[in-house]
Amino acid sequence: MPAGLPYNPWIDRLSPYVPGRPLEDLARELGVEPEDIVKLASNENPLGPSPAAVRALRDAAGSMHRYPDGSCYRLRRELAARLRVSGENLVFGCGSNELLVLLAQVYLRPGLNAVMSERSFLIYRLVTELVGAEAIQVPMAGWTVDLSAMAKALNENTRLVFVGNPNNPTGTAVEPDELEGFIDEIPEGVLVIVDEAYVEFMPPSGRPDILARIRAGKPVCSLRTFSKLYGLAGLRIGYAVTVPEVAGLLQRVRQPFNVNAAAQVSALAGLSDDDHVRRTLELVERERAYLQAELARLGLEYVPSCTNFVLVRTGDGGRTFAALQRRRIIVRPMDAYGLPEYVRITVGTREENRRVVEALKELKEGGEKR
Ligand SMILES: *Cc1c(COP(=O)(O)O)cnc(C)c1O
Repeated sequence: MPAGLPYNPWIDRLSPYVPGRPLEDLARELGVEPEDIVKLASNENPLGPSPAAVRALRDAAGSMHRYPDGSCYRLRRELAARLRVSGENLVFGCGSNELLVLLAQVYLRPGLNAVMSERSFLIYRLVTELVGAEAIQVPMAGWTVDLSAMAKALNENTRLVFVGNPNNPTGTAVEPDELEGFIDEIPEGVLVIVDEAYVEFMPPSGRPDILARIRAGKPVCSLRTFSKLYGLAGLRIGYAVTVPEVAGLLQRVRQPFNVNAAAQVSALAGLSDDDHVRRTLELVERERAYLQAELARLGLEYVPSCTNFVLVRTGDGGRTFAALQRRRIIVRPMDAYGLPEYVRITVGTREENRRVVEALKELKEGGEKR
């Protein structure tokens, strides 16, 4: 370390986010080809990106000497029409993760706090502490976000509430009318952020109508992403749907070219690729049922999921993670979420799911040897 340069003291409290292990990283370690590795650690689309998005990306490659359209004009117009909101309700980001950072920068500072559920996406706490604010973590009701406990946890210094719905890493969702009621009752001065990264995987009857509340001018922000359903995680693009007041502030703090040109054209093409969307949803529904049925057969407890991942109790998640890696499979250990007995497994193709089920069976039968 060079001479002790003074820095913001709350930085000491941050623990870096540990993402799913990259496929190539494990391939290098094991001395195998990346194609031999099954990665079920980051809830990516097992079918890959939308083919229409790939074509658009190729077609746009020759224009990459130009800066992107900082306003995301075409994507904004298309998405506004689809969501039946105005363009002023939308803000694009370098993944919805960037929007979480921007929200924290706009609304939080030391002395203020954000309320969130325990066992929800770690980034909520990270962005809160990044700006020196306090993260108030509220216990869950079983495996579900406890909205009434969260309502009670709000105080006069609360500015943001984070609700993952469906919630990562539990894969559960709250009842739509409960969340709608929670939003309607929120005290003045508090913004509710509903992270809907997985909302498309839910049956329509399970989805709360957050956009209706936004159209009605309630202080709500819905976060969506192209990383999961659309299979564009590597391009980094997500968006916020919110009231114009909030959107305007986010627009003011974001960098002018925060969404790159490749992401914009690919997302636009992916949006209209109904075939890829339908195939993805069908695959996830079918394969989630398969995976859960096989887990039950192995006698492994899991949390029934409405998303494209399943939280599974294997006894020692760290050991399961390591043993599966030796079998060329990457899942997500859950100790960072305070769930050391669990791993989170992304729903993959039938072939991928078979491999992870087979490996879990081996571990169960053979103890931890090999
Ligand atoms: C994957 C995920 C996102 C999306 O992140 P991007 O930055 O858009 O890739 C947001 N929230 C949760 C809970 C997620 O799991």
